[in-house]
Amino acid sequence: MEFSVVEKLVLKHQTPVLFLSVNRLRETYRNLKNALPGVSLYYAVKSNSNPDIISVLNDENSFFDVCSNGEIDVIKKCGITADRCIHTHPIKRDSDIKYALDYGISVFVADNEDELEKLIPYKKQLRVLVRMSIQNPGCLVNLSHKFGVAPELTWDLVQKADKKGLSIAGISFHTGSQNENSLKYIEALEYCRDIFKRAALSGINMEIIDIGGGFPISYLRPVLPSAQFCRPINEHLERYFSSYKIIAEPGRVLCGPSMTLVSKVIGRSLRNGVWWYYLDEGMYGSFSGKMYDHADYPMYINRTGQRYTSVLAGPTCDSIDVIYENISLPLLEVGDMIVFESMGAYTTASASNFNGFPKAKIVVVE
Ligand SMILES: *Cc1c(COP(=O)(O)O)cnc(C)c1O
Repeated sequence: MEFSVVEKLVLKHQTPVLFLSVNRLRETYRNLKNALPGVSLYYAVKSNSNPDIISVLNDENSFFDVCSNGEIDVIKKCGITADRCIHTHPIKRDSDIKYALDYGISVFVADNEDELEKLIPYKKQLRVLVRMSIQNPGCLVNLSHKFGVAPELTWDLVQKADKKGLSIAGISFHTGSQNENSLKYIEALEYCRDIFKRAALSGINMEIIDIGGGFPISYLRPVLPSAQFCRPINEHLERYFSSYKIIAEPGRVLCGPSMTLVSKVIGRSLRNGVWWYYLDEGMYGSFSGKMYDHADYPMYINRTGQRYTSVLAGPTCDSIDVIYENISLPLLEVGDMIVFESMGAYTTASASNFNGFPKAKIVVVE
């Protein structure tokens, strides 16, 4: 968003505030949809469960990926029917499975035998996606550290599920979040090709390949536009998987670019030759993404002139609540606003009210 536009909006709203651009959200959804023709997009609610985001995506005919009873509640409140949702948490309590089934969700994920056992009592009501792990150490957020069965063991688990009388929907994987290497998807798809071949030969009927999320967005460094990033994935899907149903679970790429954070300098202090600026938003708020998601956001200020070594700190009393240390900034005044872009994914989602500071409010623009 333009600085001047943001400035005007801030006059009407208190900071800290996250502006949600509905147009941007629609545009990124349509971009990804065009970049992955024939692929059904299941928005990963985890990345940002804001009801306005969900409603806009629902309006665009998106599907949804939920992981918990709380996420099901959000989806339910937005009027989204269960036939548009899958449940992708590989580890569930019986009560979680029942909750999702009661809502009508019928596709679940498992990556181990104990989980398959939990699903057996409900085998008439559900189908299983077997989650395969794909290691991606070069990626910002590794989502195969905690979940997924090794590719070499995936076929074995599929057979076990089949023997237990479970209906297997297909294979899912996640190449890691903010994954800038689209060849990782190809690597995973090559494993899938082998597994689907074996399944066909064994008379096991699988129809879904779930390529997960992970699609990157531009933070400080630009990344390839979705169309270019997805081209090799598309080509591979068209060549080898044209008779299967392909789905994806994008989170960050959809909601990330749609939110702009505005925070204000609420105090400053020159300490040992370094300018400390205290903002009204910090690590316990939207910048929790810096901690959990390892993300760094593009920042804009409306000052020029001589630069000084500076620190941007959050509002709480905790010393860990420091956003940027040792950066070079023009002299800022109390009341100055700072704009941070690409603040939609894994920001407000993991923010807290620590120390009595409320989460930044979300204001829909356009
Ligand atoms: C977090 C997550 C996603 C979303 O990943 P992005 O990198 O935000 O696209 C999708 N699927 C599963 C299972 C996840 O855990």
